[in-house]
Amino acid sequence: MKLLENKVALITGASRGIGNAIAKVFAEAGANIAFTYLSSEERAKKLEDELSAMGIKAKGYKSNAASFDEAQELSKQVKEDFGAIHVLVNNAGITRDNLLMRLSEDDWDNVVNTNLKSIFNLTKPVSMVMLRQKEGSIINLTSIVGMIGQAGQSNYSASKAGIIGFTKSVADELGSRNIRSNAIAPGFIKTEMTDELADDLKKTYLAGIPLKRFAEPEEVAKAALFLASDLSSYVNGQTLSVCGGLNR
Ligand code: NDP
Repeated sequence: MKLLENKVALITGASRGIGNAIAKVFAEAGANIAFTYLSSEERAKKLEDELSAMGIKAKGYKSNAASFDEAQELSKQVKEDFGAIHVLVNNAGITRDNLLMRLSEDDWDNVVNTNLKSIFNLTKPVSMVMLRQKEGSIINLTSIVGMIGQAGQSNYSASKAGIIGFTKSVADELGSRNIRSNAIAPGFIKTEMTDELADDLKKTYLAGIPLKRFAEPEEVAKAALFLASDLSSYVNGQTLSVCGGLNR
């Protein structure tokens, strides 16, 4: 029996990067996969085909994580299409980096709405599905930056710190109903989000990472598999850092 056999996982932002790797690792573990994207239509179709070829049920949904209404509709649609939602991975996220003195209201709002409000938007309706099932695992992607801060990322680090508080509160609220809520705090992962960083900044980050390398998205996906499955049956309200020991 595979770790996620007969489970349904809903993963936001799986057209690229970490979400994409999580979808593939979960499918290898036997899960049926519902996933979302914002604009990468072709990549979403490709992922849907790749996952289906692995012998599981897979479907991509275009859904803006920042929209409360779209999240309600998404949850309803996935429940209709798949019959259940056992694992929710709130992964979709963006950066709009700037020093505080140059940070616009739009860049604050977009980051907070996409990274933090999105988690409220979707966890609320999906938790209702999980409550009826009397089982569920919720995994939220925060960041090391949400714990230690980062110059030029006050909007991003605030959104990621908020996710940790949300995760712990939901763990407290829903734990008695057999629904666990945990967060993953990646350090520096090789995706398009980090590709755009300047080389000297990458060098600085690298110097602070004891493992002396950046991570592959699959290394975060393996942590997500742990939290999604019964391997972590007594882990609740925690933040698991996947950061190579990053410190300052
Ligand atoms: P990427 O930029 O590589 O991918 C982001 C994904 O999110 C894409 O699939 C994108 O869809 C989707 N997305 C973006 N905005 C929305 C939206 N409004 N609605 C729905 N989907 C959306 O990011 P990463 O894979 O690097 O990051 C994934 C998560 O991990 C994020 O929450 C990020 O903050 C976190 N993280 C990443 C780290 C890293 O080093 N990479 C470090 C710490 C945390 P589309 O392709 O359609 O645009």
